[in-house]
Amino acid sequence: MRLIYKFGGTSMAGGERIAHSAALARAAAAEHELVTVVSAMDQVTEQLLDLAEAAGSGNVPRTRELLSVVRQSHETAARGISAGAQVSIEELLAKLETLAAGVLAVGELTPRLADAIVAFGERLSSVLMAEAMGCQGFDGQAAGIVTTDHFGEAEPLMRESMPRIAERIGRVLAPNKPVVVAGFIAATASGVVTTIGRGGSDYTATILGAALNADEIHIWSDVDGLMTADPRVVGAAKLLTHISFAEAVELGKFGAKSMHPRALEPAAQYGITVRMRNTFKPENAGTLICAKPPASPVSTGSISPGPVSAGSVIAVPALKDLAMLTVGGAGMVGRPGTAAAVFVALAQARINVHMISQSVSEAGISLVVSKKQAERARAALARALIAHDASGASRPAAVFGHIMADDVARDHAVSTVDVQPDLVILAVVGGAMRGTPGVAATLFTAIASAGVNVIAIAQGSSELSIALAVPAADANKAVVAVHAAFKLG
Ligand code: ADP
Ligand code: ASP
Ligand code: MG
Repeated sequence: MRLIYKFGGTSMAGGERIAHSAALARAAAAEHELVTVVSAMDQVTEQLLDLAEAAGSGNVPRTRELLSVVRQSHETAARGISAGAQVSIEELLAKLETLAAGVLAVGELTPRLADAIVAFGERLSSVLMAEAMGCQGFDGQAAGIVTTDHFGEAEPLMRESMPRIAERIGRVLAPNKPVVVAGFIAATASGVVTTIGRGGSDYTATILGAALNADEIHIWSDVDGLMTADPRVVGAAKLLTHISFAEAVELGKFGAKSMHPRALEPAAQYGITVRMRNTFKPENAGTLICAKPPASPVSTGSISPGPVSAGSVIAVPALKDLAMLTVGGAGMVGRPGTAAAVFVALAQARINVHMISQSVSEAGISLVVSKKQAERARAALARALIAHDASGASRPAAVFGHIMADDVARDHAVSTVDVQPDLVILAVVGGAMRGTPGVAATLFTAIASAGVNVIAIAQGSSELSIALAVPAADANKAVVAVHAAFKLG
């Protein structure tokens, strides 16, 4: 068989854990063709993001402190692995320090430089893993993953990447000849380092799986698999033993297991079975994700018959760190083209919209976006849609990106763009929800009895999920209540 193994940050946290993960991978490589994808060591991506920001704002002490934290954890891990690991790590750490010094000297951080810094997490961890496994290591660029230049969240270009990956990795694969690939990082066609978005190593694994026509992809983490809710929030969360691609993709979109929202797309598209497994309990079967899983996904076999929705909702994921933008104005009522103009403006600013809702009165359109992008989204909407004077003529020509936005501004249709920070999207997901009456009633009753205020609602036309925006402070309470109401515990 041809397998992809992906080890997350917790499976890479320190020399001992890396050695343990490497042993699991080597055991598989004895029989199979194996590509091992790794995340940065636990916490390192956060540290590097902080480091990039500290260097960009000229904060010398904080930059030094973070460089030393990153150096220490990798040096300690490398000592537990091999002399070769120590040498390679030193080389990479020296490069990171030079880069940080450059950013400090200029006192400005560009998205491109931020990616160059953050990429060191996976560059370092992949070197450690390759040493621990005694095999060849590739960074994202060497592996052939080509992306757009949208630094921080670069989009993999599958048509360009697939033949390159097959050429570079497929060519060297054989039983007992595994390779290691750094997750999360890639490069533009001209070779500039990019990263593909938080949680992106899972995505790297499925991209490689698709390009290499793998039989299975195993995602190793610190939990038994995909659960009915985040086990840190819901103590009673249960393992989903098998689910469909459609359900898994939906769970990923709504933040289950902090996965990249698109992580499961390539596996679903190419029909490659995915298993989620626990590095620390490899004997457990984990979660099986495939095209046609058997019925009854929950591990205990305790799917209780009874209330309308039992068995139709399989999980309650929650997507965090969001904000809501509300575009308002009396002139929006009955005016065709306003929604189009809103989306054109956001698309031009490359803002990803997680959820949309419009009140029946049409006097407002609300959009949920990531908190990180909220201010940029607000500015883009205000610039494009709100006229600065009666003719709109005070705005620079370049801003008139689109004729519809132009018209909206001239008509004074939109007068305000408000931001509501600190939201969470809670969703109920399940393939069998389609056509099952009563799911929404159970959901809203549970939220209401938990005393949580629902800010916006959306149901996908696929009927695989219903999503609600709630205040971040109430999110855990709401997840616990909904999980209990659907008898998932
Ligand atoms: P890794 O570093 O292995 O990629 P992550 O931290 O990205 O691991 O994801 C694993 C964590 O995701 C678990 O420790 C768990 O707390 C959390 N999590 C959130 N939602 C779920 C869910 N539905 N099923 C399983 N784990 C979840
Ligand atoms: N290290 C990256 C992150 O923390 C990618 C990953 O772990 O999947 O987001
Ligand atoms: Mg992860």
